Amino acid sequence: MAEVSQESKKVLDIQEIRKEFPVLDQEVNGKPLAYFDNAATTQKPLQVIQALEDYYKGYNANIHRGIHTLAERATKAFEETRVVLHQFLNSKEKEEIIFTKGTTDSINLVASSFGRRFINEGDEIIVSGLEHHSNIVPWQILAEDKKATIKVIPVLDNGELDYEAFEKLISKRTKMVAVNHASNSLGTINDLPRIIKAAHQVGAKVLVDGAQATAHIALDVQSLDCDFYAISAHKFYGPTGAGALYGKRELLEEMPPYQSGGEMIKDVSFSGTTFNDIPYKFEAGTPNIADIVALKEAVNFVNRLGKENIASHEMNLLKYAVEGLSTIKDLKLVGTAAEKVSVQSFIIDGVHHFDIGQMLDARGVAVRTGHHCTQPLMESFGIEGTVRASFAVYNTVSEIDSMIEGLGRIVKFMK
Ligand code: PLP
Repeated sequence: MAEVSQESKKVLDIQEIRKEFPVLDQEVNGKPLAYFDNAATTQKPLQVIQALEDYYKGYNANIHRGIHTLAERATKAFEETRVVLHQFLNSKEKEEIIFTKGTTDSINLVASSFGRRFINEGDEIIVSGLEHHSNIVPWQILAEDKKATIKVIPVLDNGELDYEAFEKLISKRTKMVAVNHASNSLGTINDLPRIIKAAHQVGAKVLVDGAQATAHIALDVQSLDCDFYAISAHKFYGPTGAGALYGKRELLEEMPPYQSGGEMIKDVSFSGTTFNDIPYKFEAGTPNIADIVALKEAVNFVNRLGKENIASHEMNLLKYAVEGLSTIKDLKLVGTAAEKVSVQSFIIDGVHHFDIGQMLDARGVAVRTGHHCTQPLMESFGIEGTVRASFAVYNTVSEIDSMIEGLGRIVKFMK
C-alpha cells in the first residue's frame, strides 16, 4: 500500500508533512521510529516550535498591564490565540474562551467553580464509564464536599456507551453530565447530541472533555450546545501546559473565580475586592504566555491541512491497522465502536501488555501500555490494561507494517 492514503492523496502528502516534524526523523534502538503514542501527546510541527523560539527571542514580556512595546506585542500575540480558538471551536464570543493548562485544569475549574455555586446536597453528577481519570476525580472530590452523588453511564462490550441506561439515569436531580467527546483508551466517539439533549431536558449542564477530539473531529460548540468544552493543545500538535475551556457566557458570569490573585481582579482593597470580567476572572496570575502564543500555530497547522483530510488519512490507517492486527494469533481488539477516532487498543492472550510495549520499543515502535488513566473502564472489561496504538496525520502504513511484523514475532517468541 502506498504511503499516501487514497482518500487524502489529493490533499495531503504525508511525506511532505513528515518533514515538518523533525522528531520523526530518527532511529530508536537502531530502527526507524514509528510513533503511535499520539493519544498521549502528538509531536509538534516546525511552525509551533518556531513560534516558541520567536516569542522568547523576539518579544518575551508579561502581558496585559505593560505599556511598553514588547508587552504590547506579547499581549497582542496572546490575545490572537483567543480569537483563533474562538473560531476553531466556533464559540459565540471570544470572551467564552478561557486559557488553562489543559483539559485537566479546565475540568477542575468547572468542578470547583460551577460546583461551588450550583451543586448541592442530594444533587447528582453523571459521568461515563469511558472517562479519563481527569473527568472522574474532580467530580468525586466535589461530590464528597457537597454530599452529591456520582452516577455512571455503563459501557457496552464494543466500547460504546449504553444510551438507554443513560436515559434512565438522568433525572431532575442531575445537575451535571461530564463526558468525553472521544475515548482516549478505545477511540469511541460519543453521541453528544443525544446526551446533551437529554441533559438539557432536565435542566442539567454538560461538560465535554474534548482532549481526544480536537485533532480529529470538526468542532462547533454552538451547534453542539454543550455548556463547557475542555481541550489540551498538546493533543493537537500544540505545546504542553496550554489549553482552554469554552464555557457559555451566562454560566461563566455566574460562576465564582477558580483561583485568585493578579489579573482576575478589577479592584482590590482591604474592605473588599471586585473581580474582573470574563475571561480574565478565570485567568489568575501570569499565564503560560509562550505556549499559548504557540498554540495558535497548532490551530493554523490543523486548519491548513483540514480536519476532514486529517481524519480521512487517519481512518485509512486505522482500518489498515485493524486488518493487520486481526491476523495476529490470540490478539483481541478492545474497543470496536462504529464511530471512532484513530485509536486502537488490543491485548494478546497470555502476553502482558508491558512486555508487548517493551518489545515493540526495541523495534522502534512507540505504543502506550497500561490503563491509560481509565482504570474504571479497564475494570469493566475485566482487564488490567491494553496496548494502545493511536495514529496522527504523519503516520504511515509502512510504520503500521513494522508494528504488525513486530507483533507477529513477539507472539512467536512468547508462545
Ligand atoms: N481527557 C482525556 C480523554 C485524555 O485523553 C486526557 C489525556 O490523556 C486528558 C483528559 C487529560 O489531558 P491533560 O493531561 O492534557 O490535562
